[in-house]
Amino acid sequence: MNNINSIKKSVKNIFFQPRVLVVDDEIRIQKACERLLTEEGCHVELAQNGINGLKMIEEKHFDIILLDLMMPGMSGLDVLTDVKSRHPDTVIIIITGYATLEHSIETMKRGAFDFLSKPFSPQELRIVISKAIEFIRTLQDIATEKSRMRVMINTLNNGVLTTDNQERIALANPAFLKMINCRKKSVIGHKVSEFIKDPRLLGMIENAINQPADIFSEITDEITMPISKGTDDMIIGIRCIPFRDRLNRNLGSITVFNDITALKKIDQLKSDFVSMVAHEIKSPLNSVLMQLNVVLDGLAGELTEKQKQILQKSSNRIKSLTNLSTELLDLSKIESGLINQEREELDLVELIKGQIAFYRDQADTKSIHLTTKETKKELWMMGNRINMEEVVSNLISNAIRYSPNGGKITAWADEKSDCTKIAVSDTGLGIPQNELEHIFDRFFRVKNEKTRHINGTGLGLAIVKSIVEAHHGTIEVESQVDKGTCFSVYFPKSEYKI
Ligand code: ADP
Repeated sequence: MNNINSIKKSVKNIFFQPRVLVVDDEIRIQKACERLLTEEGCHVELAQNGINGLKMIEEKHFDIILLDLMMPGMSGLDVLTDVKSRHPDTVIIIITGYATLEHSIETMKRGAFDFLSKPFSPQELRIVISKAIEFIRTLQDIATEKSRMRVMINTLNNGVLTTDNQERIALANPAFLKMINCRKKSVIGHKVSEFIKDPRLLGMIENAINQPADIFSEITDEITMPISKGTDDMIIGIRCIPFRDRLNRNLGSITVFNDITALKKIDQLKSDFVSMVAHEIKSPLNSVLMQLNVVLDGLAGELTEKQKQILQKSSNRIKSLTNLSTELLDLSKIESGLINQEREELDLVELIKGQIAFYRDQADTKSIHLTTKETKKELWMMGNRINMEEVVSNLISNAIRYSPNGGKITAWADEKSDCTKIAVSDTGLGIPQNELEHIFDRFFRVKNEKTRHINGTGLGLAIVKSIVEAHHGTIEVESQVDKGTCFSVYFPKSEYKI
């Protein structure tokens, strides 16, 4: 019963009615095949010899051909060769009375799909046709999937480039070709370096292709691409990953290009606006603060205790506002790329000791033990002193502010295989797990009973992160509520070594 239903089942799974041509000089076989396959839902046509069969194949497409090997006139083998050369997708099943080994090998070599030896039963015919339909369906699925992918990739606004593991182009969509200003029709098979000159981008592709099997990481970067003379450069966000087979062998790379020029421009406008506002409010705030201090110092006449208290509160609030505008200015400077990138040789061990000395008094007032770990006597890197000091200073001052009295803070520098590391750990309030992912967001502050009285802007860590990223580094945080927090910053040695 299973086999009787098998063709119908296969026909149901296929999107069209299979067209079968029976080429056989034996009327009895033609008719038997026609009757059975029509009943099973196929469209069947008949040809009495090879010449007629070829004519019919030229006029319309057949999915399956049942082909007799021994016919008067043109032989089945010649028909097979002819059809396979012109219609390689057509599935050909050989019907033969002489199913010898040589015959089988010869027909298989010429592309036959299967055999039916005469005399064959209806059951045998059903099985072989079902197999053929399944095969066609698989091919159809692959072709549909391929064409769906092609249409999708070709209509993407993002550029897509894939290479093989020899850095030869395997696919390049129109958006990518437009980005690199390439009008050449055929780029497939050419080395990427023929079309891409940016050494950073070429390096990313090379690194993805050579990524060891036990690592799978996305390589990301932003590059500026010149478009044409007289127009602004295009800023492209790039993501590059290796492409692997089931055994985890690298077959090549896939790179996605995202034009972020407009976003960058909006970001720049926003940063300019923020820094303009921050700058404009900073001077009047400073002058209000100075005048308040004059009054507080009694230079404008005696003050009552109550008046002093009110003015002191106002002065504190104004100070917070000045801090906010200073941090906003810092952040917009960093984000607009105005970060001071002048690098010098820095000994991180000494830099951290300097910051510890600076914060010693503040820590002492809270009886906090502020110390360093002697990992190395000195640890040199190329970096910007002001930036690195700001990173360490922000992390230590946070550790002090978010630690109760009597805690312990350790700040140190160390080397990891391919990174230079700066870390600050404390035994303070800790950060709840669900808030950790937001702490680098601008203006984000953990709000709870314990942090309510601690003043802050929520910009310190955003500044730290921006500085670290502007130096191609990364920052990580581990924390446990009421146990403590550890911030670790990593700078790739390749970029910062001396
Ligand atoms: P601010 O300290 O001005 O609020 P930050 O950006 O420096 O802003 O920090 C963001 C938030 O992260 C803080 O409000 C605080 O809740 C949390 N945080 C930062 N550092 C620590 C730390 N060492 N321990 C506990 N919480 C911290």
